[in-house]
Parts: sequence; C-alpha cells; structure tokens
Amino acid sequence: MALKVVMLGPPASGKGTQAVRLAQARGIPKISTGDILREAAQSGAELGRRAKALMDRGELLGDEEMIGIVKERLACPDAAKGYILDGFPRTVRQAEALDGMLRGEPLVVIDLAVPDAELLKRMQTRRVCGTCAAIAEPGSGRATCGRCGGELMTRADDSDEQVRQHRLDVYARDSKPLLDYYRGRSTCRSINGAQAPDQVAKELASEIDQTVAVVSGKRS
Ligand SMILES: [Zn+2]
Repeated sequence: MALKVVMLGPPASGKGTQAVRLAQARGIPKISTGDILREAAQSGAELGRRAKALMDRGELLGDEEMIGIVKERLACPDAAKGYILDGFPRTVRQAEALDGMLRGEPLVVIDLAVPDAELLKRMQTRRVCGTCAAIAEPGSGRATCGRCGGELMTRADDSDEQVRQHRLDVYARDSKPLLDYYRGRSTCRSINGAQAPDQVAKELASEIDQTVAVVSGKRS
C-alpha cells in the first residue's frame, strides 16, 4: 500500500522538519506547497509571480488554484508510491478535493500538537535561511543554511511578540474546521510535538505503522 500522509501543525511545530525526515526514512517525496510556490517564484513563472505577490501581502492562493497545483504534483511518477503532504490541505474544500483524488485509498493525517507557550519560545529563537527559507535545526549552532549555504537570520515577523501570538491565533482559527473534518477518522493521529525532535520522529513512525496496520487489516 502506498503511504499517503498529511502533516498538520502550527508554525514552529517542527512539521516541516519531521515531514522531511519521514519522507527520507520511507523513500517517498515530501510535497510542500510552500516549496512548489517558492520554486515557481524563483523561476519567474507566471504562477510564481502571482503567488509571490500574494504571499508578500500575507495572503494565500485560492482553493481551486492550490488544488490544481497539488493535483498536478501528485500525478508525477515519484508520487505513485506515496507522499508526505506539508502545507496542503489548508481548508475543508482542499481536504475534500484531496479525498476525491485518493479515490477511497487510505490517508494518514498527523496533527503535530505543541502548546502555545512552547511555540512562542521557539519562534523567538528560530532562524531561517535568507536564500531558500529553510528553517534551521534548533540549537545546531550553525551560521549558514545546511541545505544551500545561505545566511541564517531571524524572520522579520518572528521578532515581534504580538505578531508571533497573532500568527498562532490565525493558525488556530483557520485550522479548526480542517481538524474537525479529519478528527473523527481512525487514520487521524495527534502527536506530542513538544518533545525532542528524535522522540517526535520515533513516535510519528510508530503511529504511522500502527495506523497502516489497522487500515490494511480492515481492507484485507
Ligand atoms: Zn538555504
């Protein structure tokens, strides 16, 4: 069975890092809508220019456009054996569209839960790459980006306490309908993201294996 996973979690929850680790461990692609849009913006493609203009204003692409982008990406050959989605779906409409693309195949939904106080602390100290926007591994002590060698800096919108709290409030408000949409499913699992990254990765791997075992048992 192809492993198809959606990673949900607030800013600074470690969702992106865990998605990368999981994808590497399972040999399947991590598909991040943020990466797709950033690459498009760097290539100067029409989609990228429009996405960049919206993101610079703190807005997102509309549902239908995001659904189109993801549908195209999931049709690529490397996604046939599974994938980890990061940044999609963001709305119930997008989640419904994803269910449609899966045609009844199981989807593991992971909610990486971290208390606000811990998230605020992480956002205050985390650094991102000025070139590729990758988030630096906390406590690594590196001066440059491990991915591209770019300079690490504090994100402008991470440096202000009110802005940090506001980002968490916006996430809580926007993600609630999506979590409500998935929560009743046996394939939706909540993981304690406040633990050390290695511990989170371990728990994530074991929850996914258990979920897959339950689903395969049901289907056989
Ligand atoms: Zn970088």
